[in-house]
This record gives sequence, C-alpha cells and structure tokens, in this order.
Amino acid sequence: MIPSVNFHLWQPCNMRCKFCYATFQDVKRSILPKGHLPKEQAIDVVRQLAAHGFQKITFAGGEPTLCPWLPELIHAAKEAGMTTMIVTNGSGLTDDYLSSLRPHLDWVTLSIDSLNEQTNLTIGRAITGRKPFTADAYCDLVDRVKAHGYRLKLNTVVNGRNWKEDLNSFIRYAQPERWKLLQALPIIGQNDERIDDLVVTESQFDAFVRRHAQLTDITRMVPETNAQVRGSYVMVDPAGRFFDNAEGKHRYSLPILEVGVPLAIQQMAYDEGKFEERGGVWDWNGSRSGLRSRITLSGEVASGKSSVGKLLAERLGYGFTSIGNATREAAQARGMDIVSFQHACLDDPEMDKRIDRAFAAQCQAREDLVIDYRLGFHFVPDAFHVFLRISESTATERLRNSGRVGECHTTLRERNATFQRQFQQAYGIDYTLAAHYDLVVDVDGMDSAEEVVQVILERLVHTVR
Ligand code: SF4
Repeated sequence: MIPSVNFHLWQPCNMRCKFCYATFQDVKRSILPKGHLPKEQAIDVVRQLAAHGFQKITFAGGEPTLCPWLPELIHAAKEAGMTTMIVTNGSGLTDDYLSSLRPHLDWVTLSIDSLNEQTNLTIGRAITGRKPFTADAYCDLVDRVKAHGYRLKLNTVVNGRNWKEDLNSFIRYAQPERWKLLQALPIIGQNDERIDDLVVTESQFDAFVRRHAQLTDITRMVPETNAQVRGSYVMVDPAGRFFDNAEGKHRYSLPILEVGVPLAIQQMAYDEGKFEERGGVWDWNGSRSGLRSRITLSGEVASGKSSVGKLLAERLGYGFTSIGNATREAAQARGMDIVSFQHACLDDPEMDKRIDRAFAAQCQAREDLVIDYRLGFHFVPDAFHVFLRISESTATERLRNSGRVGECHTTLRERNATFQRQFQQAYGIDYTLAAHYDLVVDVDGMDSAEEVVQVILERLVHTVR
C-alpha cells in the first residue's frame, strides 16, 4: 500500500499559477459549488484515511491555509497518529498562525519557484492584484517557519520561465531538509488552456536540476519528471474523492464518505512500483533527537574555531556549518554585501535575532554536525559544547602570522569585547564562562588544529552515547 496521501481539501486559492494542476473548476461545476466539504465531513475523511493505514497526510489546496478549519483537520490527523504536512504558497503564514499550528503540524512545504518578481508575476505566483513576494520576503518566510521549529521542505515547479534561473544561494540559505523539483505538468481540464508557454522538456528540466546538483551536500534533492509523477501520487479532491492523473487528466473515485476508503481507492490506477521508484517512501517521521551527534565550537577571536571545526567534522564524517556562513548567505540572498548587511543588523537588532533563531533551527534539524557558533551552547542546548580559549599574546601573534594587517592587542581586545557586549545586550549571557561548556581547551601552546581536535575527540569518546 502507498503510505502517504495528499488531501486537496480546499479549492479556493489567492494565487493564479498558470501551471496549477489543482484548480478543480470541474469539481466546483459538477459536484461541489463551494469548493470544499463542510468541516465535519472533511474531518471524517481525514479519520477514515488514517484508519485505512495512511501514515503521512499532506494538506494541499487550492491554498489550504485559507481554510478556517485546517487546524482542526491537522489536529484530527495527528490524533490519529499520522505525520502531518501542509503545502502552501506561504501567504497566510503569520507568526501567530504558525504558532497556533505547531503542536500538531510536523512539516511545512513552501512552494517557491523563483526569487525573481517578474518571473513570479508572469507565471501567476502572486496574490491576485498584489505584487509577488520579494527575495527578502521569501527569506523571512523561511526564517519564520524554521524559527517555529517546523521541518522545512520546498517545492519548485520548473517551468518555461524559471528553468534557466539559479536558486543555489537561496537554497543554501534556506537549507530545507528536502527540495522537490517538479516539471510543469499539463493536466487536461485543470491547466491545459494556460500552461503552453510554461511547459519544459525533460532536458530543460535536467539542466535546472544539474545546475543545482551541488546542493546535495545540504539538502535532499528530489527531482520528479512528469513521467514519474503520473499515477504515483495518492490524492483526494476537495469533495473527498480519490483521484489519479495517470491518463493526463483527473479521474475521480466515488466519495470516500459514501463508499469508504477500501472501495473508493480500488477504483484508482495508482502505481505503487512507480511511487517507490521515485523515492516516495522516506523517513518523514525520523527523529531529530540524536543530539549527541552535534558539537558546537565557541571561542575567542583567533582561537581557530573554524579550522578546528572543519577538521573535527572531517575526522568524524560529520557535516560542518558556521554562523558566519549563514550570515553571509542571508546577506547574499537579500542582494546585500556583508558590510551593508551588518550595518542593517546594527540598525535593527531583530534581524540578528532572527538569523540566530533560524540558524539554530537548521542545526536542530540536522544530525552529525559540527557547528561553529559562539552562541551554540545557548541555541543548540543538547549538543556537546566546546570552548577554545586563547591568550591575547598568542592570538595577536596568530593574526599577524596570518597576514592580518593592523591587528594588535588593542584591536583584538576590542573585537572580543564587542562580542561579549553584543551577546550580553541581546541575550544577557557571557559566552566566555566555562560553566556553559562540556570542555574548555586552552589552545596556547598547541601548534596545530590537529592537536586541538585530538583533545576534543578523546573527551568525546567518553561522553558520546
Ligand atoms: S498557489 Fe498553489 S494552489 Fe494556488 S494557484 Fe498556485 S499552484 Fe495552484
């Protein structure tokens, strides 16, 4: 049995993407003028799907966040033991809304096709009558979703307008756990009158995928051609009927509430082999609790955090991430250089705090990770925390040896003091206190990163479960 199901619970949408294969005008015309079931019936559909054995449910639309009783549907699914996900264009995801869904919603999938406003306008990826999201707005959206602790997936429809674009910087910034790439899919009766100039060939689709192939180091990329998609998704329409698209148009079953799931699903042509081949089974319920495998590195200026972190990650076969890179990527994704971005952060300390929250959530979402982050002990609390201490004289000598012109005891002292002041003001903490750490390594007298890594590894052997 295919264990996951997409419930397109709500036909209305506030956008008009020309490639949208879930317009459901046929459903509105023929069976369900309002475009959605009454609340109690929709909840009943969810319960019946869970009782049949579906393990994961994805709530889609139209735009599902427009449905006033989406929270209750998610609650019903979670109560019945399912992993829960929404696919959304993001327009309804205020902080309050995200906070209200959090207890029962596991995953948020954001549909993001381009950061180019003109592209989005042309394809219809904009709230009707309004401007499309800016790149900055998409970055903030990702930050918010992560700051609320959701697992993040992105969906991108590769189409005639975006297939030459480059989303590498944005995806590196967003760091979704999964990134699904879909080829714009013509479906008779849904989008066939509008999709023509958005259709792409498989080789154009492949070119887009190849352009982003290096992102596999930070995300699970899931490219799906139209041939792979057709017939391999179990879907339920707004009227509570299964439907498939195996023949290039929607074919609907009898309503689940009339005949029950077993009979209704038998009427469909779902291809389980194809579902498995496209990687439809994955660890959507995977635990994020293996915190023993996260190591944070803090330390004073010139203590060698970054080189020690990279070497430690290499020795352990872990990934490596740093707040410095995350900040640079945040700047780049907003089209700013790092200096202007830092000035913007000084003007608005909330920006820094948002980056901290988003970076912390990224770290929490990954395992087997070495994290170069002065505040790691505070934001990634269950990791193994290391502090690298260095004397001013050794640090100054290191900076001079590395060719940093103009560095002296005074500049070094100022830089260390700035970090301390900044963290005190923002969070009321002194990051240099030994009490915050599992291990403090005095790096004076250690000639290489290798020596420091050895000390850390020896301690880890005794503490990693
Ligand atoms: S936002 Fe989603 S549901 Fe709405 S038109 Fe676009 S693809 Fe379709």
